[in-house]
Amino acid sequence: MSTFKAPKGTYDLLPPESAKYLAVREAIAAPLRGSGYGYIETPGFENVELFARGVGESTDIVTKEMYAFETKGGDRLALRPEGTASVLRAALEANLHKAGNLPVKLWYSGSYYRYERPQKGRYRHFSQVGAEAIGAEDPALDAELIILADQAYRSLGLQNFRILLNSLGDKECRPVYREALQNFLRGLDLDEDTLRRAEINPLRVLDDKRESVQKQLGDAPLLRDYLCDACKAYHEEVRELVTAAGVVFEDDPKLVRGLDYYTRTTFEFVHDGLGSQSAVGGGGRYDGLSEMIGGPALPSVGWALGVDRTVLALEAEGVELELPVTTSVFAVPLGDEARRVLFAKVTELRKNGVAADFSYGGKGLKAAMKAANRSGARYALILGERDIEQGLVQLKDLESGEQTAVGLNEIVAELESRLG
Ligand code: AMP
Repeated sequence: MSTFKAPKGTYDLLPPESAKYLAVREAIAAPLRGSGYGYIETPGFENVELFARGVGESTDIVTKEMYAFETKGGDRLALRPEGTASVLRAALEANLHKAGNLPVKLWYSGSYYRYERPQKGRYRHFSQVGAEAIGAEDPALDAELIILADQAYRSLGLQNFRILLNSLGDKECRPVYREALQNFLRGLDLDEDTLRRAEINPLRVLDDKRESVQKQLGDAPLLRDYLCDACKAYHEEVRELVTAAGVVFEDDPKLVRGLDYYTRTTFEFVHDGLGSQSAVGGGGRYDGLSEMIGGPALPSVGWALGVDRTVLALEAEGVELELPVTTSVFAVPLGDEARRVLFAKVTELRKNGVAADFSYGGKGLKAAMKAANRSGARYALILGERDIEQGLVQLKDLESGEQTAVGLNEIVAELESRLG
């Protein structure tokens, strides 16, 4: 073991489990790629102000969880705690919204950083795949994103997840609700911190997980009773479109999220096999965010799904993913001349698209065959000195144990045809 360990709250992805993470990322990305979303990549860090303004000065993410630092050049930066603010920043900077084709639909995949108290499902470094549709106010777009996330989870074989849906209103109706909620909260028996939060960001109090707080919130006013007609109609249409697509959801009038930028449609995907860190993904509409970071009005909607928790959810359900075959052929040379000849064959196989590996380090037959079996390959290619003299190579089917001699010049074609 080395002197060093992965930092607290982080973990390494190692084979063979790491293949699951790749498969999850791919499964989430596939429906997006097939629905007009283009891939975007932004830096791992941004100006700290982008998150302070975008995510919200009073959110836990910004006040407690951000990895913020000053560079040698005096720039104040932060490791990205989430994707939406960066993606919108990049789209505005490149004027993607001016190309005349709104919405701009983008998807991303990457690492995010939050200084949280680590526990199962909650890490300081985690990965998300996300999607953003920028610049259109259309309930079909909100519905599309919910349906695509559902499709992604189902394609992985997940079943025990639920979709929670709510509307957070807009700049017309939310302030009225906010005040009603504040008045209600002021009358409760809450600690100093929570009372302060009630003044700055009362909706977040609804999200307080503590029993002592939750039991006082039974009669709290609900946003759904304060929605203006436009928000009500919009929300109703999102609900109808999602329902028509056969996607089941639950109305959750108390659903709020830990980021300030959400308006109207808000949703979360929760998995019941994960204990306290049950949210596997979440998102919603953020019509005001562009203006908050200095851009024009650009109503937008998006989500981010957590890769780490999706893998945990798959494990909780006992889903075994069908992972792509990594090695089809394993080559075992016996002697120096065989090593040169067989290495050339392996290179040729790889160029022809056959996944092939090689026994390195001058292993003897027994150790090399053990490695072949461990590799998961379907076939072993064994080459000895006598085989070379005869222009042959031994092809062993590692499933049936059957072994046949094949001409060295024919082996690539033979394997291609056997492996389809
Ligand atoms: P959020 O932006 O907080 O809604 O996060 C979206 C998704 O990212 C969550 O539903 C989780 O799946 C994942 N996620 C957020 N924070 C963490 C974390 N600290 N560790 C692991 N996954 C996380």
